[in-house]
Amino acid sequence: MIFMYDYVIVGAGLYGAVFAHEATKRGKKCLVLDRRDHVAGNIYTEEIEGIRVHRYGAHIFHTSDKTVWEYVNRFANFNHYINAPVANYKGELYNLPFNMNTFNRMWGVITPTEAQAKIAAQIEAAGITEPANLEEQAIALVGTDIYEKLIKGYTEKQWGRPCRELPSFIIRRLPVRFVYDNNYFNDRYQGIPEGGYTAIVEKMLEGSDVCLGVDFLLEKEKYAKVGKRVVFTGCIDAYFDYCYGPLQYRNVRFETEVLDTPNYQGNAVINYTDRETPYTRVIEHKHFEFGTQKKTVISREYSADWKVGDEAYYPVNNEENQQLYLRYKALAEGEKNVLFGGRLGEYKYYDMDKVIACALDAVKREFGEECL
Ligand code: UDP
Repeated sequence: MIFMYDYVIVGAGLYGAVFAHEATKRGKKCLVLDRRDHVAGNIYTEEIEGIRVHRYGAHIFHTSDKTVWEYVNRFANFNHYINAPVANYKGELYNLPFNMNTFNRMWGVITPTEAQAKIAAQIEAAGITEPANLEEQAIALVGTDIYEKLIKGYTEKQWGRPCRELPSFIIRRLPVRFVYDNNYFNDRYQGIPEGGYTAIVEKMLEGSDVCLGVDFLLEKEKYAKVGKRVVFTGCIDAYFDYCYGPLQYRNVRFETEVLDTPNYQGNAVINYTDRETPYTRVIEHKHFEFGTQKKTVISREYSADWKVGDEAYYPVNNEENQQLYLRYKALAEGEKNVLFGGRLGEYKYYDMDKVIACALDAVKREFGEECL
């Protein structure tokens, strides 16, 4: 059989683009397919009123991995944006992540010792020794007041289930610190790419053939004959036609509006942490790039249940889904010519830097050498 491509890469998101770029550099021919009518997956950015809008939710690049940082910097310069979201709980404003500014606003404490004592007393009153779920983990980290006002409502809206039924690692993503520092991330490197994420992905895809509006899963047999190997970055359960039943995901819906004001909320990200406000956060896109346009664009973000056929945003990595994923993973290992990768292909709550690191690892396994 004569194959036209060395690789058929399913999904033009970050994982697929990094893989395509590295394979192309090594003289391989790649065909990249995507169901959507644009590249870049969920990191897609588009311009509205001269403002770059993150259509599928805010993406702030952050990493402590020097190799990954140097890698993305080959494709773009990054600005000096530092994420410092604010939480709005019924009109009370708190700095995030949980730090001395938050503790001061919550309890009037001034020193780290006072804040630690306040939290320790709340942990003791709650009687938590070994946190077994997100609720207990959150209380063990920051006490009951912060849990009730800044975590419970937000998390239950975002994940559509009680905090007691969620794994604790989700909340451990967030720093807790006893200094007056509102930087949301602990990572060494952070920023927003000048020119947007779409431009990065387009650069990565140079030299590959790209076909948009193509649903690989509808024509799996055909594409198996087009390329020697497949890199699949879609949902692993969908690849196997949900034969063991679907994994669970969360979907996100955005309500985007252009407003005739230069500055709507004074910050890129405001989280609404009460249970009653139907959206989880409001993004004002221009602030990611210090925009000075006359108008502004905001997106209200609503978390939504997911069903087969919807876009999958977040894997719900609880024990039950993890077990199910392992069954799909075993099937995936049997597909010798298919490599599964990325947030959906590996069913993991990866940030962008981890996606790049995993794609570069896959490149090493595939080509057996360091990155060029
Ligand atoms: N979280 C919270 N309150 C907030 C922000 C985050 O309780 O105001 C918790 C929530 O459980 C969420 C998790 O922290 O699922 C991770 O938040 P992150 O901002 O990392 O989520 P992402 O940006 O990936 O949607």
